[in-house]
Amino acid sequence: MKASEAHQNLLIDLQKIDTTIMACGLKLANLPEHEQIKAIHKRLEDAAVELKVVETELEDVSIDLRRSEVDVEAVVDRMKKDEGRLSSGSASPKELEQTQHELATLAKRKAELEDSELEIMMRYDSVKKRLDELASDEVGLKQLELELNVRLENAKTQLDAELSKAKSDRALLVPQIDGSLYDLYEKVRGSANGIGAALLIGSKCDGCHLQINAIEIERIKSLAVDEVLRCEECRRILVRI
Ligand SMILES: [Zn+2]
Repeated sequence: MKASEAHQNLLIDLQKIDTTIMACGLKLANLPEHEQIKAIHKRLEDAAVELKVVETELEDVSIDLRRSEVDVEAVVDRMKKDEGRLSSGSASPKELEQTQHELATLAKRKAELEDSELEIMMRYDSVKKRLDELASDEVGLKQLELELNVRLENAKTQLDAELSKAKSDRALLVPQIDGSLYDLYEKVRGSANGIGAALLIGSKCDGCHLQINAIEIERIKSLAVDEVLRCEECRRILVRI
């Protein structure tokens, strides 16, 4: 195939545009924010599951705490009654002895109940602390998600603008290129990872980056400038500098 040097050079310009279009598409599909947002959603889901568990635990501990308070109150009430009986002076010596004995038992029981209440209160504090942490994590994660969404939108807008500029440049350039040469370029591009034309730099194809053998280079040198060359290795259109 033959095509003027100028038309062949336009292929390199077209290739640059097509490479930009490909890169934009790739970047759009692989914006890191997509994965980051997905990871945040996962963390939010996990946190929500844990939040439910911790909320239930807090309810349970609250009931335990209330129960323990009631137990202590009951013992305190009985102790007050016993103390009242003792101070009234109306009890017989035997009753006095029994009441004093009961008071000692109640005091012991009260101390035990208070110890257990303290343990429950500590458990309550630790569960409540975890609940607060989870709530604060959720706020932080949602804020981060918001920021990432803004970053994602900005990146998309920028890439969309780049893409649409490249597409309009392409639309202007294509009609300036010889039809058959363009068709060949498109055919090669479709089967060579999006690269249809490459420069011949020294004796190296800039498409596959392989060295072209000396005999082929000599043959190329002998060809007219309007002769369209193909790389023997990658079959891409080779454009001489
Ligand atoms: Zn090549």
